[in-house]
Amino acid sequence: MTAMLDFKDVELYYDHVYALKGVSLTVNQGETVALIGANGAGKSSILRAITGLAKPVKGSVSFEGVRIDGADPSDTVKRGIAMVPEGRRVFPFMSIKDNLMMGAFTRTNKGEIQDTLDSILIRFPRLKERYSQAAGTLSGGEQQMVAIARALSGNVELILMDEPFEGLSPTMIEELFESINDLRSEVSLLIIEHQLDLVLALADRAFILDRGFISHEGPTQPLLEDLEFRKSKLWV
Ligand code: ATP
Repeated sequence: MTAMLDFKDVELYYDHVYALKGVSLTVNQGETVALIGANGAGKSSILRAITGLAKPVKGSVSFEGVRIDGADPSDTVKRGIAMVPEGRRVFPFMSIKDNLMMGAFTRTNKGEIQDTLDSILIRFPRLKERYSQAAGTLSGGEQQMVAIARALSGNVELILMDEPFEGLSPTMIEELFESINDLRSEVSLLIIEHQLDLVLALADRAFILDRGFISHEGPTQPLLEDLEFRKSKLWV
């Protein structure tokens, strides 16, 4: 089976400091993959190489069989990949509706866009109640929902999430966990997250990154169920 996302032998550096030293990972159609590792391990650099924000010096990044490394970052959504960035970067002065319309900027069929927005509002009833409210006035968890909903409005096939649970209250985490869990059947997900129990419970497979190298890859189940195995692969 050809992987939907094939990130192969990628080397990447900033000002001669290596961030990725030959990293390979795959995301298959319909799969949720966790990307975990300590601060500075290179997780965000992987997302930057996928979205074209950083250009590998070696290796390749392919999406649905097409090379995308070094491509124009502004074409990312058009290719079928959306990013939910760290820190919930919504457009704060725009309404929820306009934030979602921004996510749909590559699409032209108004009827299809409306159908997508309708299904998003069914999925996130909290956003429906506040549809005309400026996104910057929402709670942190609600803003995270806007960021995810904006990614969905582009009708993409792969969503990259950078620390979706960061800084959220336990109640919001629970709600967001359910929302992301529901998404798994519709899109492929690559999720960076430091809260390991959450991301391991969501993902089918995990890649553990250690200072620019993949130190372990495999199904998440043994990491959740076998404490000794987990300790041998992870720091907790
Ligand atoms: P965190 O969990 O803290 O977000 P990360 O695993 O996402 O970390 P990266 O942000 O990919 O790590 O950083 C990998 C390495 O590259 C780090 O050593 C970091 O200092 C370095 N780095 C990242 N961005 C830049 C940059 N713009 N210029 C110089 N070095 C950078």
